[in-house]
Amino acid sequence: MENILFPFWMEIDAQNLHNNVEVLKRWSPSSSLMAVVKSEAYGHGWEAVNLLYDYGLRKFGVASVEEAHELRKRGIKGDIYLLGGFFTEEAKMILEDGLTPVVSSPKELQALEELARKADKVIPFHLKVDTGMGRMGFLPQEINEEWWKKWGNNCYLSLRGVMTHFASAESDPAYTHFQFDNFLSFLRRLPENNPSWERHCCNSAAFLAFPEMHLDLSRVGIAFWGVSPWGRKATLPLDLKPVMRIKARVKQVKTLPPGSSVGYGGTFTTSRETKIAIISIGYSQGLFRSLSNRMEVLVRGKRAPSRGNISMDQMTVEVTEIEGVEKGDIATVVGKEGKEEVTIEEIADLAHTVPHEVLCSLGKIKNRMIYENHCSLAK
Ligand SMILES: *Cc1c(COP(=O)(O)O)cnc(C)c1O
Repeated sequence: MENILFPFWMEIDAQNLHNNVEVLKRWSPSSSLMAVVKSEAYGHGWEAVNLLYDYGLRKFGVASVEEAHELRKRGIKGDIYLLGGFFTEEAKMILEDGLTPVVSSPKELQALEELARKADKVIPFHLKVDTGMGRMGFLPQEINEEWWKKWGNNCYLSLRGVMTHFASAESDPAYTHFQFDNFLSFLRRLPENNPSWERHCCNSAAFLAFPEMHLDLSRVGIAFWGVSPWGRKATLPLDLKPVMRIKARVKQVKTLPPGSSVGYGGTFTTSRETKIAIISIGYSQGLFRSLSNRMEVLVRGKRAPSRGNISMDQMTVEVTEIEGVEKGDIATVVGKEGKEEVTIEEIADLAHTVPHEVLCSLGKIKNRMIYENHCSLAK
C-alpha cells in the first residue's frame, strides 16, 4: 500500500461522502443545497470539493476570493458564493471568476457597481442581513427605501438572494427562532418580494434540527463530512457517516520502569512498568497540545490513552495492555477499527472546542488519500 510511505496521513472516504450527499438531499427535497467548503473543505482538501461536484452539487460557499479562485482553477463550475464578503481590491476577481458576492456594506456595493459599469456587465449579489449574530450583514433598519432605490433595482447589480446567519443554531433554539422571525419580518417588509430570489438562513445545525427554516437554500458545511455540529452532546439525526480518517505509524515501542517521567514538562509519571508506543503525529499535524493526557488513539483495535505531553511531531500512548504492538504498526487517530472508534466529536469535546475547529486543524495534514472502491493517492 502506498500510504506506508508516510509517517501520518489522512484518508477521505469518498463512499461515505457520497452517502452524506444523498442523505442531505433527501432531507430537503424542496430546497436546494449549498456546500459550504471554506478552509479547504473543512480540512478535507480541495479535491474533496471535486468529489462533491461529481456527486451533483452545483452551489458552493467559500470565505474568500482566494478560496473561490482555487475552486475555479480546479474546474468547479456552478455558483460560488463569497460568504465572507470581499475587499475592494479583490472586486475584479469577482467578475473574472464569475462569483456571487454576499454583500454586507455600502462600500462593497459601490465597488461592485463601479466595476460592473466599467465592464458593462451585470453582477449578481446576495444581501446579508444581521438578525442577531452581530457580525457581517446590514442591520435590518439600514435597508430602507433609499437603499432600495439605489441598490434594489440597479442596472449593474442584480439582487438574487437574501440571507442571514444564526449565532446559536446548535445550542439555543429560542434564539434561533427569534432570529428566524426577525428574518421573515425583514423579508415581508422589503418593497419587493421576488419569487426567484434565494432566501437562506440554515447552517448544518439549523438544517438538521429545524426543517421549517429551509426556505429556498441551505448552507450546509460540517454535516457533509458526517460530523455533528453538537459534538458528542447529540448524535446526528440522519445516517451521516464520517469522511475523514487520520492514521499514523508507531515509531518505537519501549517499556519504562515505574516512576519514569514521560515527555516535555513531565506531566505523566508511570506508577508501574509501562509499555509506551511513540506515534508519529503531533501538534504540528493539528492535534492540539491540550489533548495531552486526555485523548486516546486506536492501536491494534484497542484504545491507547495519551501519556505525557503531545510534542510537535510525536505523541506517546500507553499500550501496556495491548498485545504485540511493534514499530511500523498503523495507529488510528481518527476513525474506526473493529468495534472501537475515535470521532472528531470526541476530540472536540476533550479539547473544549467545536468539531469545526478540530477538522480545520487536522487539515494541516496534506498527505491525503481518497478511498473510493480502491485506494488512490490524492492529486
Ligand atoms: C461556515 C458557514 C456555514 C456552515 O456552517 P456549518 O455549521 O458548518 O454547517 C453556513 N453559513 C455561513 C455564512 C458560514 O460561514
